[in-house]
Amino acid sequence: MSATRRVSIFGATGSIGQNTIDLIRRDPHAYEVVALTGGRNVGRLAADAAELGAEIAVTCHDEELPALRAALAGSGVEAASGDAAMIEAASRPADWVMSAIVGAAGLAPGLKALETGATLALANKESMVCAGPLMLAAAKRHGGTILPVDSEHSAVFQALLGEDISAVERVIITASGGAFRDWPLEKLATATPEEAATHPNWDMGQRITIDSASMFNKALELIETKEFFRIAPDRIETVVHPESLIHALVGFTDGALMAHVGPPDMRHAIGFALHHPHRKPLPVQRLDLAAIGQLTFRPADETRWPALRLAREVMVAGGLSGAIFNAAKERALDAFIARRIGFLQMTDVVAETLDRLSAEVGLNDAVIDLDTVMQADHLARKAADEIIGHQGADLWT
Ligand code: NAD
Ligand code: MG
Repeated sequence: MSATRRVSIFGATGSIGQNTIDLIRRDPHAYEVVALTGGRNVGRLAADAAELGAEIAVTCHDEELPALRAALAGSGVEAASGDAAMIEAASRPADWVMSAIVGAAGLAPGLKALETGATLALANKESMVCAGPLMLAAAKRHGGTILPVDSEHSAVFQALLGEDISAVERVIITASGGAFRDWPLEKLATATPEEAATHPNWDMGQRITIDSASMFNKALELIETKEFFRIAPDRIETVVHPESLIHALVGFTDGALMAHVGPPDMRHAIGFALHHPHRKPLPVQRLDLAAIGQLTFRPADETRWPALRLAREVMVAGGLSGAIFNAAKERALDAFIARRIGFLQMTDVVAETLDRLSAEVGLNDAVIDLDTVMQADHLARKAADEIIGHQGADLWT
């Protein structure tokens, strides 16, 4: 048995964070927990930090610090708040770090962890979308490793084990189709946030669930595939697979397709990254294929899901367009959740933001460092907010 491993979990109170804690809790003596971070759910954060004996618990909201301190009183766990504290926690030496904050806010802490040489289990797909080259360069420079945790990318990673990347002809990312897969197109304009926040197969955070209905999540994942595996955009495909049992397929030059099949349970991809390079037993359901009977596929229609078309444009443009795409998407999603714009208007906001900023920030040839990425992110949020202001209406009153 190896010595205990030092682990940190960013976004510990979220859906991925809690699934990660579930796995660690099953074998507590194998791990020494360094930092847990979260947001407003300081009760959960403090309880987990105390149970796991973490060094430090950090909330991103300064106003929650007194509550976090009170909840941790007498536990021996340090309490802290705010962005600087997040970065300080991320700079503490750890062997394995889970990056599971939602949104572009996950970029800086994950990057800092990579700079310590840690293995970064990357659930935060936005890091790769906004700053793929920066993430890969940081890992290389500091001897760190990035392991994908998004189920599709874990699937591709596993299908590529022992393979020659130059023999890869295509990568096929599957999509469940989300909440509105079978809705008539004309109904989509009036879809509400509550309707969008239900997923047929996966149990995830609210934002990624709505992003599944609009396929902005799949769009981010296509860009993530290009950035992570360095695969040309025209070799990356999407297919709708309503059962969500095949997570991705890799096609090779000899015509073989390697598919990764498993239940829709993120503990598989998290556990794979946690135990890599070994495989260990995981508490996920074993599939009974005869009981499942059939797996089905349909084309991913870009009329129903225009976010997929935008993803192609972003993959081809490269540079800072991923950061702009993601920031505009985050603001459009906020506005949809706040009922300021309709479901279909999210794509319009993102498309218009990309159009507006493409000239302004030199999308393709800008240097990608944390400053330029954060600047592009900032400009895109501002532009998206302006565009939303013009569109805004109270749609469901
Ligand atoms: P979630 O909303 O359930 O949890 C998000 C976590 O981030 C929480 O701990 C929250 O407190 C923290 N957080 C939110 N805003 C923050 C900020 N500004 N600064 C610091 N911390 C902040 O989200 P989730 O579903 O667990 O997803 C996390 C990430 O993993 C996302 O990037 C998502 O796309 C990705 N992912 C999730 C799933 C899934 O099954 N949930 C699957 C694949 C990939
Ligand atoms: Mg995914």
